Amino acid sequence: MVTRVGVLPSEFVSFVANPATEPFWTAAAEHRLVLPRCTNCDTFRFPPAAFCWVCRRQDVEWVEHDGNGELYSFTVLRHAVIPGLAEALPIVIGVVELPDTNGCRLIGDILGCPPEVVEIGMPVALEWYDVDDGSVPCFRPRA
Ligand SMILES: [Zn+2]
Repeated sequence: MVTRVGVLPSEFVSFVANPATEPFWTAAAEHRLVLPRCTNCDTFRFPPAAFCWVCRRQDVEWVEHDGNGELYSFTVLRHAVIPGLAEALPIVIGVVELPDTNGCRLIGDILGCPPEVVEIGMPVALEWYDVDDGSVPCFRPRA
């Protein structure tokens, strides 16, 4: 195990794909961000949902996004509530709003950004964090 400060250790990362989320995780494993968009009314629906909450249709297409966004909110994990986590602390966990997606937000660790520097509204870029069975989104401040 390699522990990186500011990143949740991979043994604590687990996800289970279901039919609604499988395209997201398949693309993530290839370091591509895709978001579901209703083909009837063009509403992005993320987190993925079986039905569009605007028009109630199930038709969906998966659209690539570059992952550049702005930090909408964040929290800082400072206490090792689980044994084995202490070496990775502190971890900044962010909620990132993605432009041109009618408000889709993605959660991920904010890398390379000490807690005393992070601020809401800061621009961030997507970065992938490889774990045993795939990749999860993280973000890094961008200029
Ligand atoms: Zn719709």
